[in-house]
Amino acid sequence: MRTIWVLGDQLSRRVGPLANATPGRDRVLLVEAADKIRSKRWHRQRLHLILASMRHFAAELETEGFDVDYRRATTMADGLAHHQSVYAPSEVVVMAPLNWDGRQLLERLDVTISPNDQFLCSPEAFAQWADEHLASHARLTMEDFYRWQRRRLDILIDDGQPTGGAWNFDKDNREPPPKDGRGWPEVRRFALTDIDEAVIAEIEGYDVWGEPPVGWWPTNRADALLRLGDFVEHALPTFGAHQDAMLDAEWSMSHSLLSSALNTGLLLPGEVVAAAVDAYQDSHAPINSVEGFVRQVIGWREYVLGVYWLWMPDYRDENRLAATRSLPPVFEGQASTSMACLGGVLGNLERNGWNHHIERLMVIGNLLLTAGVDPRAAVDWMWRSYVDGAEWVMLPNLIGMALHADGGRMATKPYAAGGAYINRMSNYCKGCRFDPKKRTGDDACPFSTLYWDFLAGNEEALRSNHRMGRQLGAMRKLADLDGVRERGAEITVALTEGRL
Ligand SMILES: Cc1cc2nc3c(=O)[nH]c(=O)nc-3n(C[C@H](O)[C@H](O)[C@H](O)COP(=O)(O)OP(=O)(O)OC[C@H]3O[C@@H](n4cnc5c(N)ncnc54)[C@H](O)[C@@H]3O)c2cc1C
Ligand code: SF4
Repeated sequence: MRTIWVLGDQLSRRVGPLANATPGRDRVLLVEAADKIRSKRWHRQRLHLILASMRHFAAELETEGFDVDYRRATTMADGLAHHQSVYAPSEVVVMAPLNWDGRQLLERLDVTISPNDQFLCSPEAFAQWADEHLASHARLTMEDFYRWQRRRLDILIDDGQPTGGAWNFDKDNREPPPKDGRGWPEVRRFALTDIDEAVIAEIEGYDVWGEPPVGWWPTNRADALLRLGDFVEHALPTFGAHQDAMLDAEWSMSHSLLSSALNTGLLLPGEVVAAAVDAYQDSHAPINSVEGFVRQVIGWREYVLGVYWLWMPDYRDENRLAATRSLPPVFEGQASTSMACLGGVLGNLERNGWNHHIERLMVIGNLLLTAGVDPRAAVDWMWRSYVDGAEWVMLPNLIGMALHADGGRMATKPYAAGGAYINRMSNYCKGCRFDPKKRTGDDACPFSTLYWDFLAGNEEALRSNHRMGRQLGAMRKLADLDGVRERGAEITVALTEGRL
């Protein structure tokens, strides 16, 4: 009998070898490897999500009539070896892992690796697109890839033209928070099953952090479909306009909260995009919201997977700005902070294991960048702290977008910003002891100080970037630059010592 080995982020009956599997003809193997669990100090909700989703998936396959070998082993390789010695399968087939190290491991084992079809554009198809694109373009851009995806998949295309007459509606999005005090969609909490409860109790035996799960994150297909339905019904209509806004009392606003289900395989990109497009066609959601969502899923999400595979393995070691500081203790709840925005965003992370995109990019990433934190420490922390963390998505977003550690391969300029940006896009500054308009003095906003300090400290590395000319010029003209540098040094020390 053949064995299909299903990895923890491949929990779908519709992809890979499982798509054509039959109970009685195929056996299924899942391995929970202790070394992987112990390898990092995971957020409780992250560890629970993976283990509970794997166990629910195994139970569903058993209900369908499959013989499932759910194995707890010291390592993945041990789990496979024990399975092979007990069942002597004719062949072990496994869908190609999405992460580099997983692929390397499987290539050393006695298994057949089948193509990964969890994405609409596989890494191989992306590499071919990139090759052809670079023959006539100087660089890869998400925008070009996205338009190629839209056309070839025929998503939001009418008679060869983009639906609504434009490829994007950013001018209608990126609004600051609304001032009308509106309500936001309530987030459904899924009932915790016996499997969830058992995992929650078990993970207390490991070195974990963050608050325990309360049911925000679906750990089975039925709940993931409920989350998708909730998003399309209640949040998609308002997804676009305030996508980039942050509010201290609202952790989810109109975001989809679908990333963890997409990244574990409980949902597939094609079905979530189809649900959003249907909502547009039924006049339930406007084009700026639907296009904005489609762009995230078939554009950004597939683009980051593609560049990850194109640029690995060297990509993970990129550190072009030579950032070497350690991760500040506030990032893991080991210190408090009087920076209202940082405290709010990290509080949400501790409670929910999740932040929305702008919180990740313009608060967390911005601080890690301007404070010069080592990209490897930043990646490790984010990977274990977010429910949707995975190396393929983390590296381009963090090394490329947020930290500019790849020297501009992914994003043309660093996403560094002072307190003025956060003040415009959130309501945090009103309740903060710092002043976003100040860059020197005790009450200067750390973001405003570090922004200018970062430009001065990295002038040499950024000089050849023509998109940075205006900012570097403004920095050189600052009359109080010495004071900024002095305050910048104080802030980074205070951050490292957990006193900011
Ligand atoms: C520094 C940094 C680190 C990030 N790390 C992760 C990560 O580990 N895992 C992860 O899934 N996303 C990551 N992202 C991307 C993005 O922030 C999250 O996907 C999003 O916040 C998840 O919430 P949501 O499902 O409500 O997303 P929505 O805002 O509702 O977007 C819809 C979907 O689009 C996809 N998506 C949107 N933007 C991106 C992107 N830049 N890259 C990949 N997919 C995207 C996600 O699957 C998401 O579920 C990161 C972004 C930054 C700036
Ligand atoms: S003043 Fe600065 S630290 Fe305080 S909330 Fe605003 S941006 Fe954040």
